[in-house]
Amino acid sequence: MSVPRLELQAAVLGTRLMNAVKSGHSMETEDAILWTDAKTVLRWICSTHRRYKQFVGNRVTKILESTDASQWRWVPTADNVADKATRPQGQVDFSQKSRWMCGPKSHRRFSEYNRLLRTMTWVLRFVCQCRRQQHEHGKYGLTAAECAEAELVLVRVAQREAFPDELHRLYANRPVQPTSELKGLLPYLDDLAILRASGRIDAALCLPYGARRPIILTHRHPLTDLIVRHYHVRMKHQNVNATITEIRMKFWITKVRRVLQRVIRNCGVCKLQRATPTPPLMGSLPEDRLKPGGWPFEYTGLDYFGPLLVTVGRRQEKRWVALFTCLRTRAIHLELAQDGPMRKTGIGSYIDQEAPLTPNDLLKGTSNIPDTPAESEELPKPCETRKQ
Ligand SMILES: [Zn+2]
Repeated sequence: MSVPRLELQAAVLGTRLMNAVKSGHSMETEDAILWTDAKTVLRWICSTHRRYKQFVGNRVTKILESTDASQWRWVPTADNVADKATRPQGQVDFSQKSRWMCGPKSHRRFSEYNRLLRTMTWVLRFVCQCRRQQHEHGKYGLTAAECAEAELVLVRVAQREAFPDELHRLYANRPVQPTSELKGLLPYLDDLAILRASGRIDAALCLPYGARRPIILTHRHPLTDLIVRHYHVRMKHQNVNATITEIRMKFWITKVRRVLQRVIRNCGVCKLQRATPTPPLMGSLPEDRLKPGGWPFEYTGLDYFGPLLVTVGRRQEKRWVALFTCLRTRAIHLELAQDGPMRKTGIGSYIDQEAPLTPNDLLKGTSNIPDTPAESEELPKPCETRKQ
């Protein structure tokens, strides 16, 4: 049997297992997600095309009887925890920190601190309910007190992972080692077993407790990155020092400047703000502008601007201005157009002229277009200038 067909068999087995767990459990499950690392199986399940071979068709039908295609997800082989059990290997790691116990990394990763905090708060509330501890505001949404409690849990876990030696010594009421990076902070454990720095500003009662005794975090922990990013966004991507001051109202992060600069380097909004627009390459100049010799205004560009309000006697009138530019020398000549655009220039009136005029004609005051051009006569160029 081919590997994709074996994987499909596994998907059928997974579906049966899901049904068995659902029926054997007293709790009602609203939703279930099924993971497979076989993309072929996913295509078979999600495709609307149903002309499969009998073997595949029967099994896909069986899968779709109790699940929906949207419930199926793909897990990369590198993250597939099931491989731990199915692949032959010498020693399997079943410790608390192993992938088998913690799940794939992609499931543990959070991109936003608030999301992590709220998830943790919900988990804590679930634990409370399982222990039959009724919470005061259990019926409503999350409370600030619950979020604060969840934050301390997260911090405690991060500190335990980052400073095991220091915590061990502090639990035994011994000072941290002189070589520890926290030595200068005079760390201590508070009543809730949170590692805090003791500073010299205890008398500054105007400051919150967090600023006087900040929580210590290491720059190496992913939680620190999330917290720094959270403050960076909260401070509207402002400068480094302002953000660090805000962070220090609650946390003392080792090498915080370096963490913040790393966060800023990876921040999409800051990247956009730093980007400078690339000026477009200009096209090559037209032939008229590059001919050597000749006289000024041999090739001319023309534009109008206005209206400008001018005072005539006691009233105000509108005036338009014709602007001639010499394409070669870039000299400028201005003419007043009294009655409006293309009505009459100071040089001559051409309003009744049907043939196209060049700016040169207007400037020179004579038209080089005869009223009725003879057939034998060579027609003048319709336009001597080009649009710039
Ligand atoms: Zn930013």
